Amino acid sequence: MDITGKYILALDQGTTSSRAIVVDHQGKVVASSQKSFEQFFPRPGWVEHDASEIWYTQSSVAAEAIAKADLTGLDIAGIGITNQRETTIVWDRETSLPVYHAIVWQDRRTAAYCEELKAKGYEEAIRQKTGLILDAYFSATKIKWILDNIEGVRERAEKGKLCFGTIDSWLVWRFTRGQVHVTDVSNASRTMLFNIHTLQWDEDLLRLFDIPASLLPEVKASSEVYCDTATTLFSSHIPVAGIAGDQQAALFGQLCTEQGMAKTTYGTGCFVMMNTGDKPVFSENGMLTTIGWKIGDSVTYALEGSVFVGGAVIQWLRDGLGIVRSAGETEAMALSVEDSDGVYFVPALTGLGAPHWDQYARGVIIGLTRGTTAAHIVRAALEGIAYEVYDVIRAMEQDVTRESREMKVDGGAVANDFLMQFQADLNRSAVVRPEILETTAMGAAYLAGLAVGFWKDLDEIRKYVAVERRFEPQADEETVRRKIERWHEAVGRAGGWEKDR
Ligand code: ADP
Repeated sequence: MDITGKYILALDQGTTSSRAIVVDHQGKVVASSQKSFEQFFPRPGWVEHDASEIWYTQSSVAAEAIAKADLTGLDIAGIGITNQRETTIVWDRETSLPVYHAIVWQDRRTAAYCEELKAKGYEEAIRQKTGLILDAYFSATKIKWILDNIEGVRERAEKGKLCFGTIDSWLVWRFTRGQVHVTDVSNASRTMLFNIHTLQWDEDLLRLFDIPASLLPEVKASSEVYCDTATTLFSSHIPVAGIAGDQQAALFGQLCTEQGMAKTTYGTGCFVMMNTGDKPVFSENGMLTTIGWKIGDSVTYALEGSVFVGGAVIQWLRDGLGIVRSAGETEAMALSVEDSDGVYFVPALTGLGAPHWDQYARGVIIGLTRGTTAAHIVRAALEGIAYEVYDVIRAMEQDVTRESREMKVDGGAVANDFLMQFQADLNRSAVVRPEILETTAMGAAYLAGLAVGFWKDLDEIRKYVAVERRFEPQADEETVRRKIERWHEAVGRAGGWEKDR
């Protein structure tokens, strides 16, 4: 293939901001740009974005990043897109105008409808087909809500006048000025309408949710040339050549490309994902089954588990409890004491996610004595994050019946060396922190770069990916085992606290 450009442009369309980075052949970030956009909370539990604002923040940071690097579109060999997943947009084919705001993944407006479907016994069939638990997070019930609640929309949909897309589809639609309506398998697998075995939109599910098939994008691989841009935003037409949902892109960006490899992103929440190879693994332990990516004809599946409160507990120590001034200082505080002195902190501030799945659980700090200090509580909070991630990893290992050799990490909280070391001690395997922490955007860049021949293969990319630090387990195994036991006792006490109140 003839490669003219010397750079890849990666677009990272997140929940609170749109980012763009320009990456060179060695995988170095040469420029980046970021803009946040408005969050709408029209009612309790509802979360929306303005899809048009998403488009213009994303397109403007793309142009700005290229300009910052003193390049033009001619220097860009391909565009990779990664995005907040599940967020749902319905728009008009003719005018490209959204018929309603984007309904964001966090939005709970369809929770009661999901409960109804559960009561009717649909949960297991949906899980078998999609790998997902029946929940309002995923796109299907959000699409249905738009069709049922916005005047005239169902009628227009039935006449084939409307399109549905997750953010990736929407961006491609706008980049091609309404010529191309596609998504990739990883995003499709989060809609709760996609059969992860047949790799097709599922007719039974479309019927169940009463969604016309004409709304849906064509489902493509995660690394292929989907189209050339048709906007005048760039001085040339650039191939869009990679698409993956954010967690999947991070897994790819961490080069977890072999079965059994896992990564955890430590942000506000913690997101654990494990590559399970070319077959879907159905969890006995509360994990989701999802598609990682498709390259050529080969599909990679993954298990996914989320911890709701990760770094957010550190924000709470700062803004709620007020015992630290910055997240950064928690490391020194934790290390200023020998251990947590028997204090355990279960950060179930908004309930417990995988593998416990208890929405009624609430936070617990237990084991307080006259000797407890702020440092012990800070240490227990950091340890609490690591225990939560450990529980997810252990559950995944049971599902795949093998132990992992190492875990790759990224996200804001991995700056904390104490947290990383404690995690390695719990996992009893290495925790690996890469030099470039922009793994989500890098994943999209790699997918696009591979499709246009910018990088020959994964081996070539591997040469450029550097490990910044490897944390090996150091603590005494018996001590760790006892601590994990105590942690589980504390989790037990956090469970069900809000029930029947
Ligand atoms: P998100 O993408 O979810 O907004 P980031 O990846 O930017 O999150 O990470 C920010 C989170 O990491 C915050 O919740 C913050 O409290 C936490 N954090 C940042 N630095 C540290 C640190 N040194 N130690 C512990 N937690 C930290």
